[in-house]
Amino acid sequence: MESMLALVKNHRGAGLALESVPVPSAGAGEVVIRVLKTAICGTDVHIYEWDEWAQRTLSVPLIAGHEFVGRIVELGDGVRGLELGELATGEGHIVCGHCRNCRAGRRHLCAHSVSIGATAPGAFAEYLALPAVNVWPVDERIPLDTLAIFDPLGNAVHTALSFDLVGEDVLITGAGPVGCLAAAVVRHAGARHVVITDVNPTRLSIAEKMGVSLAVDVRTASPAEAMTTLGMQEGFDVGLEMSGNKDALRSMIAVMAHGGRIGLLGFLEGETPVELERVIFGGLTLTGIYGREMFETWYKMTAMVESGLDVTPVITHHFPVAEYEEAFAIAHSGHSGKVILEWPAALGGEDREQRQPGGET
Ligand SMILES: [Zn+2]
Repeated sequence: MESMLALVKNHRGAGLALESVPVPSAGAGEVVIRVLKTAICGTDVHIYEWDEWAQRTLSVPLIAGHEFVGRIVELGDGVRGLELGELATGEGHIVCGHCRNCRAGRRHLCAHSVSIGATAPGAFAEYLALPAVNVWPVDERIPLDTLAIFDPLGNAVHTALSFDLVGEDVLITGAGPVGCLAAAVVRHAGARHVVITDVNPTRLSIAEKMGVSLAVDVRTASPAEAMTTLGMQEGFDVGLEMSGNKDALRSMIAVMAHGGRIGLLGFLEGETPVELERVIFGGLTLTGIYGREMFETWYKMTAMVESGLDVTPVITHHFPVAEYEEAFAIAHSGHSGKVILEWPAALGGEDREQRQPGGET
């Protein structure tokens, strides 16, 4: 059996190993993608660190990773509408297809989905087998780095576009990669003021490159002061909680305009005390967001990237996969935006050769 390199969690403890594992083949209705680039998600760092969530969720051995771009190299039986050699990324949540939400077309609300790189084999590998329905073929003109982060960009797009943004004032708590991506999205979608908060100067400076009105370090300033600086009267219309920090959500609720709407994407583990009095008397709406809408989010983010949404300032580091330990250390440090891992197919220049015949570059 052919073998490939993959980043594997091979024991119930910290770390990942670059190992030789069997190359997957395309079952009926599946394709195999030769991976070019992948990106490290916060989830991957949790998996690497083997935190409480990882211990509770994963079974080993597991190939990690779910943010990827590559080329289709094998089509399984019954696959139609996709072609060998096509550049593609894809949705990492594999849904059941049978539950009420799946059958109603609300696949992102499937209660039985599995996730590549967490509860199914992941993308940190030279080859990835994926159901054809999960594959999202992409425009060759979009940079590979941008395509490699379509999954987290999709989280940001799904959260942001859950609300009317045109002319609205938006508060984003958390300037990690997804918060920064959300800032660029809401700006592109026509928001007026975009304020982002964090305690990490590296991340706040990336947010500034993504087009925020103000990047607020909450160790020394507050969202209320940002409102004064910007001349805002009534509070924020839309709040995007991207930090998973309980204090951040409390501070957000305190500065929302009456009738304001909050999207919760950051993982607030366990119980979070909030002032429900403000939610009730302020008529606030809090909405949990998970994953991406299949596939309207993918359509919208592609269209926005094609119409000028530039997310590249959030990508700060590139490493060949052999240097994954250093890549994870940087991702864990907080002194980075998105960290890209480049796989042999991208490093060998094969992709460049394959991209020529299309003509337009
Ligand atoms: Zn389902």
